[in-house]
Amino acid sequence: MKILVANLGSTSLKYRLFDLADGQERLLAKGGFERVTDYARAIGDCLAQLKENGAIQGEDELAAVGFKTVMARGVNGCVRLNESVVRAMEEYNHIAPAHNPPYIAGIRMFAERMPGTPLVGLFETAFYQWASEASCRYAVPEAWHALGIRRWGFHGASHKFIAERSAELLGRPEVAARVRDLYVGGPGAAVADPPLRVISCHLGGSSSITGIRNGIALGNSLGMSPQSGLPHNNRVGDLDAFALPFLMRSAGVSLDEAERILCRESGLKGLSGISNDVRDLVGQAAEGNGRAQLALEVYVHQIRHWIGAYYLELNGLDALVFTAGIGENQWRIRQAVCEGLDQLGIRLDAALNERQRATEGAIGAAGAPVRILVIPTNEELVVAREVKRHLENNPNHHTTSNLK
Ligand code: ADP
Repeated sequence: MKILVANLGSTSLKYRLFDLADGQERLLAKGGFERVTDYARAIGDCLAQLKENGAIQGEDELAAVGFKTVMARGVNGCVRLNESVVRAMEEYNHIAPAHNPPYIAGIRMFAERMPGTPLVGLFETAFYQWASEASCRYAVPEAWHALGIRRWGFHGASHKFIAERSAELLGRPEVAARVRDLYVGGPGAAVADPPLRVISCHLGGSSSITGIRNGIALGNSLGMSPQSGLPHNNRVGDLDAFALPFLMRSAGVSLDEAERILCRESGLKGLSGISNDVRDLVGQAAEGNGRAQLALEVYVHQIRHWIGAYYLELNGLDALVFTAGIGENQWRIRQAVCEGLDQLGIRLDAALNERQRATEGAIGAAGAPVRILVIPTNEELVVAREVKRHLENNPNHHTTSNLK
């Protein structure tokens, strides 16, 4: 069963093609286009590449196209992207301006180009369905909560991958199996003691941290929107709600301008005034640039804040996992995050940490109580697996139509 997973950014289209037939999971092709201005063309080029390199003979070979969709009003989990789901995504365009509009545009273009192929989305909020009510609530009136003003949590595909893979690496196959079946079976029966306690740090262009007990997420540092929690590359992270009316009243900043700045000119870029890329900031900080240094310090401070929150809630820790572009590659950030936590059982092996880049490996000191792992995430594989299940569980999917 060939499933194409499309990753749509505001100016990029990345893709991976999987063959999930016969219990096997094969990556047949991957690629992408940067600085995309014409999405329809990029989609055409993507399909042409797949045919040129022999991954597919024709587009009708694709069983489905899967999307790592972010959020939609009243929709969660893995669903067919029909008109009503896409409209529900549109309702949250202003909450996820860097994510929902490009996804919606891309989904509509795929639907036009391939009207007979099921388009299926796995929402990034899906992994937090079993988080406690208390962890999801903001202290606002019930009527606001009903409007969706609550913590949703995102990066669900990535943290789910980490939950499953870390359980495998820690010798807990029953927890890994539970995570794998989570979206079809729910959490099911309690798994055997002792509890497996993992903190997953997804540190990339967007960053978030999740505490995971026995494969089930306790919550996520991202709240109602993908702009919250840790500082992101150019998005703000957590900010006191009263900052916005203050800015509007006292500094005469319009709502549109404030939204633009919070979503494009803030985060590491806003803090440093230099770059939204941690590689640049690490380089500049090493040369003594104070603002680059400060941006990294704020970032690390916030990472430790969330690790601390989940460490407490988990009542200890078995594994601390680093993933995504920064988590997998930036040993200095990992070192700063783990600094001085030996009393909590978190001790890096400095040499192992420095060597570990972009591959899976353990970087903790020998004998330390907490394992420290680098695990490259594979969000697209999580999407492809769920899309396959969706098709299998909805055998009439060929007779239901895509978008209008
Ligand atoms: P996205 O959310 O855009 O997928 P990534 O997970 O690719 O983001 O993370 C982007 C961040 O990761 C950038 O800040 C960049 O500095 C860092 N990064 C990515 N690749 C590397 C690398 N090979 N070496 C060091 N840092 C990297």
